[in-house]
Amino acid sequence: MVNIEQGEDEKVILCKNLKIKSTFLIVCGGLQADRLAKIDQVNLKEKVVGFRGDYYELEEHAKHKVKNLIYPVPDPQFPFLGVHFTRMVNGDVECGPNAVFSFKREGYGKTDFSLKDTVDALTYSGTWRLFLKNASYGINEYRRAFSKTLFLKTLQKLIPSLEMKDIKTGRAGVRALLLGKDGDTRDDFRIEYGNNSIHVLNAPSPAATAAMAIGNDIKKMAIERFNVN
Ligand SMILES: Cc1cc2nc3c(=O)[nH]c(=O)nc-3n(C[C@H](O)[C@H](O)[C@H](O)COP(=O)(O)OP(=O)(O)OC[C@H]3O[C@@H](n4cnc5c(N)ncnc54)[C@H](O)[C@@H]3O)c2cc1C
Repeated sequence: MVNIEQGEDEKVILCKNLKIKSTFLIVCGGLQADRLAKIDQVNLKEKVVGFRGDYYELEEHAKHKVKNLIYPVPDPQFPFLGVHFTRMVNGDVECGPNAVFSFKREGYGKTDFSLKDTVDALTYSGTWRLFLKNASYGINEYRRAFSKTLFLKTLQKLIPSLEMKDIKTGRAGVRALLLGKDGDTRDDFRIEYGNNSIHVLNAPSPAATAAMAIGNDIKKMAIERFNVN
């Protein structure tokens, strides 16, 4: 979706090679949610800033060390949950993630860069306020992003027997953090109405696990707001 135009009684959604006309629109844009809301004339003060999370994976010979999920108790002072071990349905075990500022919203590689996204984030006061509030945390996260030894040390807090040979580089994800100008993260769900539209602006974890329930709620909101069945 690259543009949303408001027609007389319908919206015209312009995608790269497609034009869709619709009376109502529900937008779940993740890392692009704020931009899509603005295109649709939603008055939004916050901005989405991306934070990448790198994962390691357990090597085959070390998988027996994790039989279920292993999570730390969350520290409510920090916006991110600490590293944890997740046993996946295919038997793989992910270890992580860290949380580092992403120079590209969909930047899944350590060196990915987008001038537009970087300027957008670094000219926003909320980003700097978040950095200043969590400076030492942020620096440690960056060090861990480039040091397997430091990452391992953090993982060893949960599994002391873990060794360097037990972990290998895994995949990465980028969290969409809806940030206020005060640098506070909007930790809760944030769904706004536009003109004949609904925008999911913040859907933090566990929004993937709870996707069906959230979808049901959005359906109810749409029925009520748009007066449809
Ligand atoms: C590292 C990491 C670990 C996580 N772990 C968990 C977990 O264990 N459990 C859990 O429940 N949640 C977890 N989450 C959170 C979960 O992924 C999110 O809460 C959830 O995906 C948010 O859903 P969403 O629909 O808002 O955004 P998304 O899932 O990001 O979906 C947005 C979609 O919009 C599309 N899009 C964006 N812009 C456009 C455009 N212009 N045109 C067309 N399409 C567009 C994107 O391609 C994408 O498909 C994790 C997230 C990260 C980053």
